Formats: sequence, structure tokens, C-alpha cells
Amino acid sequence: MKLFDLKGKTAIVTGGNGGIGLGIARGLSEAGANLVIVGRNVQKNQKAVASLRAENRSCLGLTCDVSRKEDIDRCIEETLTEFGRIDILVNNAGVSGGGAPEKLQDEVWDEVLDINLKSVLKFSQAVYPHLKSAGGGKIINIGSMYSIFGSPTVSPYAASKGGVIQLTKSLAVAWARQNIQVNALLPGWISTEMTAPAMDNKAFYELIIARTPVARFGKPEELAGAAVFLASAASDFVTGISLPVDGGYSVT
Ligand code: NDP
Repeated sequence: MKLFDLKGKTAIVTGGNGGIGLGIARGLSEAGANLVIVGRNVQKNQKAVASLRAENRSCLGLTCDVSRKEDIDRCIEETLTEFGRIDILVNNAGVSGGGAPEKLQDEVWDEVLDINLKSVLKFSQAVYPHLKSAGGGKIINIGSMYSIFGSPTVSPYAASKGGVIQLTKSLAVAWARQNIQVNALLPGWISTEMTAPAMDNKAFYELIIARTPVARFGKPEELAGAAVFLASAASDFVTGISLPVDGGYSVT
């Protein structure tokens, strides 16, 4: 369908070398976009790029720590050199972290906030002039169920993901007149490296399944449809929303 067609567009996906990021990257590339996969781990980047190129997708992998502005600026330059334009940014890179809040270390708090929240602003600022000069664009930020609910164990994570919703709304209203739509996806429990410990913990796993109406974890590729919608012309009048993709977890 033309409304969802991303041919000729260039998308940057942070943390696109695995898990949810790769699920989204694959969806955007199937819809026709040139892909730039950004991550810290060179081997993971190479593997993800190879798997997309094996499907004849146009794809570039860039080594980048999203908490470092100089890395982000280099990614922007290399993307423009390779593809000549930027249309879509998916701020997906993230880490979990925490501990009991009363014992929380500053280093953990800073690391989680730097990667999960502050980088979303930094990367969005870096693409802004390019989206604006192209006549518009799309930013998709990845929140979490912990954007909505509190957590006794990962309070920095929950604080960072709550911040992602508010930052999404603020960028959406600030940049609406530049035809830049900024939205968030809120994944439920999805099977990835990040959630492997939760899946291995039988009691916790069963608690999640009992709490999830569809009674299963999601798969990374199940984020692709919503991402293609928010990256395409189909969502041109949609901005500032946070869309749960969660098997009903947030409505019970
Ligand atoms: P993974 O651990 O599989 O992936 C995390 C990704 O982020 C990796 O590609 C990693 O790449 C990248 N990353 C982490 N830190 C940095 C950094 N400083 N700079 C660049 N890249 C970085 O986890 P998920 O796929 O599960 O998570 C993806 C996103 O989805 C996260 O934002 C997470 O919070 C969110 N989420 C996940 C849920 C789930 O159930 N899985 C639920 C709700 C939200 P590298 O190792 O190369 O640095």
C-alpha cells in the first residue's frame, strides 16, 4: 500500500543490531527504507547488517554510543554520505538497571538516564535540521510498560521511560509546524536479550504471563507493523502519542 511505502526514505534505528531494534529495522526495510543500524557492539552490528543484506536490503551499520554526542554527530555525517538524506529516526537503544531505590548508586542512575532518556533528545536534536530541510520526517521513541507503571526494582529505568513519553509529547508540539511527527511505542514483555533473565525466572515469568491477556511474551518482529505505521505517510496526522504494543498488558 502506498500509504505505508518507505521507498527512497532513510531510517536510523539506534540499538538496531538485535532484539526489538532489529525487529523494527527489518519491518522498515521491508517497507522499502534504506536502513542505518546503530549500536556499540561491532560484531552484533556486522551480523545484523549481513542478515539484512542477505535479504537484498540496503543497510549500513555504524558503531556508536548514543550517550556520546560526538558519536551521534559522526553517525549523522556517515548516514548523509551513504544515503544523502534522513527521514526517520527510531530511538530504541536502551539498558535496564536499578536495585532498591534506597540503595541506588549515582552511577547506575546516570547511566540509565543517559542512555534511555538523554540520548533520545541528543539524537533527535541531531536529526532535526535534516528532517526540517527535507520538509518533514518521523521520530519514533521506544518507551515501556514502565513508562506507565512504577517498579520497586528498576526505578531509574521506569523514570527514564516515563520521561520518554513526556519528551515525545514536547518534541511533537515543538516540531509539528515543521511537519515532523514524534510518537512513541510502548512494548509489553518481548522476548529479547534484555528480558532473558525474566524468562529464565520461572516464578516471575508465570506472573507476567498471568498478568498479560494474550498469555505470552511478544516477539521483536511484532513491533514492526506499528513502527511502519508511525514511520509512514499513514500517520501524518498522528503526533505525540504513546502506542502500547503489549498484548493487552496495560489495559488490565
Ligand atoms: P536488547 O538488550 O536486546 O537491545 C538493546 C539494544 O540497545 C542493543 O542493540 C544495544 O546494542 C543497544 N544499546 C544499549 N546501549 C547503547 C548505547 N549506549 N549506545 C548504542 N546502543 C546501545 O533489548 P531490547 O531489544 O529488549 O530493548 C530495546 C528497547 O526496547 C530498549 O529501549 C528497551 O528498554 C525497550 N523495551 C524492551 C522491552 C522488552 O520486553 N524486551 C519492553 C519495553 C521496552 P549494543 O549492545 O551494541 O550497544
